[in-house]
Formats: sequence, C-alpha cells, structure tokens
Amino acid sequence: MPLAYIALGSNLENPAQQLQAAADALAALTEVRILAGSSVFRSAAVGPGQQPDYLNAVAAIDTSLGAEDLLDRLQAIERARGRERTVRWGPRTLDLDILLYGDQRICSSRLQVPHPAMAQRHFVLYPLAEVCPRDVVLPGGDTLAMLLSRCPADGLAETDLELNYHLQH
Ligand code: ATP
Ligand code: CA
Ligand code: CA
Repeated sequence: MPLAYIALGSNLENPAQQLQAAADALAALTEVRILAGSSVFRSAAVGPGQQPDYLNAVAAIDTSLGAEDLLDRLQAIERARGRERTVRWGPRTLDLDILLYGDQRICSSRLQVPHPAMAQRHFVLYPLAEVCPRDVVLPGGDTLAMLLSRCPADGLAETDLELNYHLQH
C-alpha cells in the first residue's frame, strides 16, 4: 500500500486540539493506517496580516486510497473542523496537505505531489524528517537531507505537546 506523508497545520481555535482531532479523524478512516507521527512544532504565520502562530506536525500513513480520494477525505476532515477558505493563506482551523504519495509525482488540476511548497517550508521539512528517512529520494531527485540543508530551522520551535496518533504497525 502506498506510503504517504500528511502535513497537519492549524492556527485558530485551539490549534493543539485541532491537530489532535485531525489525528483522530485520520486514524478513524478504515483505508488509512498511521505508522508514525512527528512532534508538534510552532512557528510564526507567513500569510497576510497579523495571524496567530501555527502549530504543525506530519503523519506517515499507509493507505489503500488513491491520491485524489485521499485528498477528498482530508478535505472532508478540514470541513468537519470548520475550515473556511476565504483569504489565500489566511488563518485556518485545520489544513491537511499531502506532502508525498509513494514515489509518485502528481500534477492534476486539484492535486500536486510532492507538495509544491514543501522544500521552502521549515515547518513541513523538520517534522517530516522525524517520520521519514533523510536519505529518501524524492520525485525530482533530491533527498530529504538535501532539502533540509537548504532550509534553515530559524523561527521553528519544537513544542512538548504530544499528539496521540493511534499508531498501527
Ligand atoms: P498551500 O498549498 O500553499 O499550503 P493552502 O494549504 O492554504 O496553501 P488550500 O486552500 O488548503 O491551500 O488548498 C487549495 C487547493 O490546493 C486545494 O483545494 C487542493 O485542490 C489543492 N492542492 C494541490 N496540491 C495539494 C496537496 N498536495 N495537498 C493538498 N491540497 C492540494
Ligand atoms: Ca498548506
Ligand atoms: Ca491545504
């Protein structure tokens, strides 16, 4: 079954609870098994205007869902948490992005994998490195280690929050 990596992010309405609710909802999907989950990281928002800090984490899953079906499930979970898409990169209760889906490169109107911005985002790469081998070769040819070496962790803080990922090995 394809191994996929999901980024979890929130900066509204108790972000720690939002991330836990996302882990609960992911684990509850019968077609998804959570294999590993990262620590929770805090960073300043990069979107427009003044926004609360973000909490971010990454889960490694295996899934029998195709990538677009997985996206549907993730968007349903976002909606269930009250996600509203108003301003691009505005504050949000929950954001679930597919970072990697097996070794596939996907470029459809609604899905791009690897996630196009992951290489520039410390809040994605550092949690990803906790649950994914650094020598993994990503579609495109770079290893995760190479992406990390080009992306300083400045401004990213590991918190001591612990999510229950309901791991299934
Ligand atoms: P960013 O993609 O820069 O992190 P965002 O997460 O705030 O921004 P959203 O408003 O959550 O963006 O999503 C916009 C659209 O991105 C979604 O409706 C979805 O179709 C599309 N999308 C493309 N690639 C992906 C991916 N790998 N994971 C999740 N959504 C994706
Ligand atoms: Ca995002
Ligand atoms: Ca998103």
